[in-house]
Amino acid sequence: MATERTFSIIKPDATRRNLVGKITARLEEAGLRVIAQRRIHMTQTQAEAFYGVHRERPFFRDLVTFMTSGPVVVQVLEGEDAVAKNRAVMGATDPKKAEPGTIRAEFAESIEANSVHGSDSAENAAAEIAFFFAGVDIVG
Ligand code: GDP
Repeated sequence: MATERTFSIIKPDATRRNLVGKITARLEEAGLRVIAQRRIHMTQTQAEAFYGVHRERPFFRDLVTFMTSGPVVVQVLEGEDAVAKNRAVMGATDPKKAEPGTIRAEFAESIEANSVHGSDSAENAAAEIAFFFAGVDIVG
């Protein structure tokens, strides 16, 4: 399996509850290395563009409102099979369906306020990393 990069967001429900360290520890314990990180407050324009694939979904407006409701921490993670590994440690979108021990099972408040985002493919990871980080800000 090759070393790979993926993109992560610690969402506003988690920054509000001061869970950045606990969530990052879970990622590191799973074998993922944080090779870029920034705390930002997403603008509406950024959130709409980032979640553009969900534009037609009924929850799109709520999702944009939630993602702009407080600060987030955007991260680039590196490791063996990083995309799948991060998805596994995150757990299912709906915390009620997430495997015990996953970040969402443990920390998420709801299907929307579910504490973390993680890219779902290597291709999307590359696009999402480029959306938030310049190459010089990523130190592998
Ligand atoms: P993910 O890849 O597991 O994050 O899930 P999706 O790509 O399907 O959805 C993106 C994000 O939209 C999720 O992480 C949630 O924050 C939110 N979301 C997904 N499904 C729902 C829903 O049914 N209702 C609401 N309010 N938000 C949702």
